[in-house]
Amino acid sequence: MSDYVADFMGHIKAKNPSEPEFHQAVQEVIESVSVVLEKHPEYRNAKIMERISEPERVIMFRVPWVDDQGNYQVNRGFRIEMNSAIGPYKGGLRLHPSVNLGILKFLAFEQVFKNSLTTLPMGGGKGGSDFDPKGKSDNEVMRFCQSFMMELYRHIGPNTDIPAGDIGVGGREIGYMFATYKKIKIEYTGILTGKGLNWGGSLIRPEATGYGTVYFAAEMLATRGETLEGKTCLVSGSGNVAQYTTEKVLDLGGKVLTVSDSGGYIFDADGIDREKLAFIMDLKNVRRGRINEYAEKFSSAKYTAIDPSADCNPLWNHKADCAFPSATQNEINAKDAKNLISNGVYVVAEGANMPTVPDGVDVFLQNKILYGPGKAANAGGVAVSGLEMSQNSMRYSWSREEVDNKLHGIMKSIHQSCVEAGEKYNCQGNYVNGANIAGFVKVADTMLDHGIFG
Ligand code: NDP
Repeated sequence: MSDYVADFMGHIKAKNPSEPEFHQAVQEVIESVSVVLEKHPEYRNAKIMERISEPERVIMFRVPWVDDQGNYQVNRGFRIEMNSAIGPYKGGLRLHPSVNLGILKFLAFEQVFKNSLTTLPMGGGKGGSDFDPKGKSDNEVMRFCQSFMMELYRHIGPNTDIPAGDIGVGGREIGYMFATYKKIKIEYTGILTGKGLNWGGSLIRPEATGYGTVYFAAEMLATRGETLEGKTCLVSGSGNVAQYTTEKVLDLGGKVLTVSDSGGYIFDADGIDREKLAFIMDLKNVRRGRINEYAEKFSSAKYTAIDPSADCNPLWNHKADCAFPSATQNEINAKDAKNLISNGVYVVAEGANMPTVPDGVDVFLQNKILYGPGKAANAGGVAVSGLEMSQNSMRYSWSREEVDNKLHGIMKSIHQSCVEAGEKYNCQGNYVNGANIAGFVKVADTMLDHGIFG
């Protein structure tokens, strides 16, 4: 089997050059599922891994727009329609200058397994652009989003492909894109999730990824008879996922010591309480300011700039029980992982997608901590997107409590699927293998049912 894995990865790298994040994501899955492929030759005979790692469709397009000074600008837009075996393509849109084909392919690939884990009928996709919303006026963001949707509208639909938000895409951007689609198509349909409550959005969708990640951490802790009550937590990022992770940790009696943005992080020895969290939400969602302002406002906090070229991130070098990486991919390297362990962290639940490099993952697994990889731990966001789609189809809205209960139930079920897959394939306690195997088998079996076009 190791020859097959090496050969397979050789092909992936040759066929998808200069896409290291995509290679990293595929490598993790093939290593996890190799035990399944060994036991089930039908998957190898039907070339499931070869097909599942090839996008069904990649759309790449020019996004021209005009800035406030009247200058012409151009960005590149993408939509990766990765796999539609178990449902229409579903996955977020990312607006960040680092966006490129390889990053979106890694995210779309991860999304296939994540969506499969949610128990809902959703295939996997991802999209976005290298447009940087930071420092842009609302009008510039609106003109960009309109231009982006003038191409994207051809490829999406309520039963085809339903994008959502991701880094740099929140309620504002979804609103501009939704209205552009409606204007072009003269159609009021749920072609995006993460919509505003007045126009087809679901209660709890903004909260879902963060809440779900904390529910997943609570499930992992329950396997050791523990809860989040009194636990100290390190959170990175200060966007959507970080904010609602912080809120749910507070709800469950924990204490959050840190949040960050791409410039640096704050450490608040007294913990981030609800008043301070409201300040962060206003700072990031309304005023669109930088996190160092937190330390100017609250004397209990210290701000430290983060040097991205340093060999480790000081945020991960504080005494704590739990860590919730909630910013971006590869934000925890092997040294950071070791620092976390030596500072007493024994629960890591990933709100971000693939925030830990493979060597860092090895450190967590070797130390047998409770490590919940993003594709399981952060699946609550897309799960509630799936619930938003159901509500749109029914022309009906569930209450906050109903959606939260469903989200909680889905996170418990994802946790259970990971545990059961781990037990079945003899890797108990390894949530990486558990999540990859459980997510893979459902999609692979469907692809077998569908034949060559599956
Ligand atoms: P936001 O744009 O709301 O927030 C992102 C946060 O991460 C910001 O604080 C941002 O800082 C920071 N950040 C972004 N890029 C970098 C970088 N290269 N280096 C350091 N910090 C960075 O995004 P979300 O909260 O929605 O997404 C965060 C993570 O969660 C991503 O990995 C995303 O894929 C994942 N995720 C999101 C879901 C969702 O529902 N939103 C669902 C599942 C996963 P700054 O403002 O300075 O850029």
